This record gives sequence, C-alpha cells and structure tokens, in this order.
Amino acid sequence: MFDLTIIGGGVLGAFHAYHALNSGLKVALVEKGNRPQGATIRNFGQVIPSGMNARWQSYGRESLAIYNDIMGKIDLTVRKQGTVYLASDAEEMQLIEELHSINVSRGYTADLVSKQNCLKKYSGLRADYIEGGLFFPEELTVEPRVMIYRLLDYMVNELSLTYYPSTTVIACENNGSVITTTSACGKNLKSDKVILCNGSEFKTLYPSVFNKSGMEISKLQMMQTKPQPKSYHLPGSILTGGSIRRYEAFQECPSYGPIKRKEANDTLEKKWGVHILFKQAMDGSVIIGDSHQYADARNSEELGFDLDMDIDQFMLQKAKEIINLPTYKIAYRWYGTYAQCKNGELYKKTIDENIHIVTGIGGKGMTGSPAYAKENIEKLFNL
Ligand SMILES: Cc1cc2nc3c(=O)[nH]c(=O)nc-3n(C[C@H](O)[C@H](O)[C@H](O)COP(=O)(O)OP(=O)(O)OC[C@H]3O[C@@H](n4cnc5c(N)ncnc54)[C@H](O)[C@@H]3O)c2cc1C
Repeated sequence: MFDLTIIGGGVLGAFHAYHALNSGLKVALVEKGNRPQGATIRNFGQVIPSGMNARWQSYGRESLAIYNDIMGKIDLTVRKQGTVYLASDAEEMQLIEELHSINVSRGYTADLVSKQNCLKKYSGLRADYIEGGLFFPEELTVEPRVMIYRLLDYMVNELSLTYYPSTTVIACENNGSVITTTSACGKNLKSDKVILCNGSEFKTLYPSVFNKSGMEISKLQMMQTKPQPKSYHLPGSILTGGSIRRYEAFQECPSYGPIKRKEANDTLEKKWGVHILFKQAMDGSVIIGDSHQYADARNSEELGFDLDMDIDQFMLQKAKEIINLPTYKIAYRWYGTYAQCKNGELYKKTIDENIHIVTGIGGKGMTGSPAYAKENIEKLFNL
C-alpha cells in the first residue's frame, strides 16, 4: 500500500515523486517506457524563467533553487551559464530594454549586453545579425537525455522510490478509500492517491476526459549538430529575435502589442511557428530548434509522424543567418510533442476525489515543473 502512485516518469511526474518522497510519503512511480521517452528527453534542457509570464517566472525561479539544491547531492548535468536573448533590430532592442526594466523591478538579475560584448562572448555570432542582448546570469541548462534518468535513479537509490518501468497503466479504480491502479501486464498497485502526469498520451487513460479538455498538442522539430571542434564554446541558452517576438514574458512589455501588430502574417516563421534557439550539449554538439505545429488533443494524429524537411531546411538557413557554427553537419533530427491548454496555464482535473490529473504544462515543463510539483504535493497532502 502506497500513499501515492504517480503515473508518468517525465519531468512533471518525477518532480511530484521527488517532493512527495522528501515529505516522507511512500511513493510508487509507474512509467510505460523502459525509460521515459516523452517531451522530457526530447527538449533543449533550457531552464529559463526569464521567458515566462510573472506567475510562471516565480515557479521558474524557485525551480532554479531546487535544481541547484539537487546538484549538491547528485550530478544532474545542471550548468549555470545563463540565458541570452539576442536582438536583431530596433524593435527587438526596444523589447529587451523593456524586459530588462521589468526584471530589475522584480529583483531578478538581468544585464543588457552591448553588440560588441555579444560578439566577444558568443563565438561565431554574426555582426550583421546582432544589435544587442539581454542576459540572465542565474539561469541553467540541463542535458535532457540524461537528467531525468539520473533523477529517477537517485530517487530509487537514495529516497526509496518504488519504480515500475515498462509498465503501462490502463485503469484506475476508486473502491471506497483505496485506489487500485491496474497495468497492462496485470500488476495492481494500491494507494491513497494517484497523480496522473501522462504528458501528451491521451489514448490510454480517460480518453473522453481529454477529448473534452480543450488541450492541444504542439509538435516541435529539432536537430543536433555533430560535436563542434573542442575549442568552440557557446555558453548557456541562446534565444534570438524570434523568441523575443514570441515568448510570454515579452507580452508584458509596453511596446509588445504595437510591434506585433506591425508584423506580416504571411511569413514562413508564422506559418511554421519557427524561432531559433541554440544550446551546446556537453559533448560539444549544438542543439538547434524549433518549429511549432498544432492540433486539437482529439485529432493529434493530424500532426503526422514525419519530419517536414522544408521546415528543417528553413530552420537551418535561419540559424546560419545568426551564428556561424564551425560545423552545421547534422547528427540527429527528431520531433517532440507537448500538450498545452488553449485557455489556461496547465490542465488539472480531479476524478473520484483522489485521482488527480496534472498535465498540459506546455513549453515550460523543464523550467516550471520542480516548483509547481512541490506546491501541488503540499496542497494535495495538506503539508
Ligand atoms: C522539442 C521540445 C523542446 C522543449 N524545450 C524546453 C525547454 O528548453 N525548457 C522547458 O522548460 N521546456 C521545454 N519543453 C517542454 C518540456 O519538455 C515539457 O513541458 C515537459 O517535458 C513535459 O513533461 P511531462 O512530464 O508533462 O510529459 P512527458 O515528458 O511527455 O512525460 C509523460 C510520461 O508519462 C508516461 N505515460 C503516459 N501515459 C502512461 C500510462 N498510461 N502508463 C504509464 N506511463 C505513462 C509517458 O511514457 C511519459 O514518459 C520542450 C518540449 C519539446 C517537445
């Protein structure tokens, strides 16, 4: 008998487990993959509260502290190299200056960086692209393909997590005061509460609930270069003009509305939801992305399983206009999907009192999950 069964070992499920275990609860975590393979391992690994709206920035700032704290105990691949937003024209300069003031007034460290200093710090950055930058020194990166596995191992070995990999939950039943969670391989787990963090997997449990949830799925295309030469360093998270024009944080800037209204709507950036981000991985390769295509949760197959090579070529061309990497030879291409609410920050629903669905955290899961999960565990268990 467990206090809590968590379904889904992505970042949202794993951090719910982490905080529940730290509160002394007996926790089972059930993951359908041998290892999680959803959005949590397919992303950039940028932990960037600076890009979020005020409410999620505060979750993000608390998450930075949680990642740093865990780093004191185990190597989660966290690196504190900061985030930079690179402005390419006068409008984007205006927006980063306004975001700088907003963050200074909130006590969140942010530094404006001159064109010359951007060129000095970010090797290969093109002088014909950059006008200036806004740097957030507190922000982190993680290696998404490693971090979650290390966190799960740590919780099993040091915090007594009971972990069931390769186990797909197909039903949860509340028979009075106990929830029985049944898996496809016939395993039954009993617990007081269940938290379902299923990412964008909507077909197995509660499909009719998800069909009515108002959630949508976003499909993002990504690529990763071969390792750059050993002497090449691109520190931290690099976000560019498209991100300045896209990220929620900038919506608070007074000039955001007027600038957006001037934008043409018939561009390929808009059609494919492309903005260019870079992050150098620990092996020296550079991850480049991304694009966004959307479908309703109930019609997610419409997004298809192919990588669209026109989008891929467009992203590559745009990336080359920003940074001259020593090599643009691509080692891997993939896509990831995440669920998000069309009208809300995240999807939460309680079924039969003690079965709690938490998903649809959108593009902010690596940044917001650690702190959000902490608050949710405290609420659900009255801690
Ligand atoms: C390409 C891309 C780039 C991104 N970049 C960033 C970034 O840089 N920074 C950032 O903050 N966010 C980023 N995100 C968003 C972030 O990755 C997601 O918000 C986050 O990973 C969602 O975590 P999750 O746990 O909700 O879902 P997932 O990671 O999808 O995990 C859900 C898990 O549940 C399991 N599961 C589902 N159903 C069952 C079942 N019935 N039984 C057992 N197990 C089940 C699945 O196998 C899966 O492992 C990005 C996303 C993508 C796709």
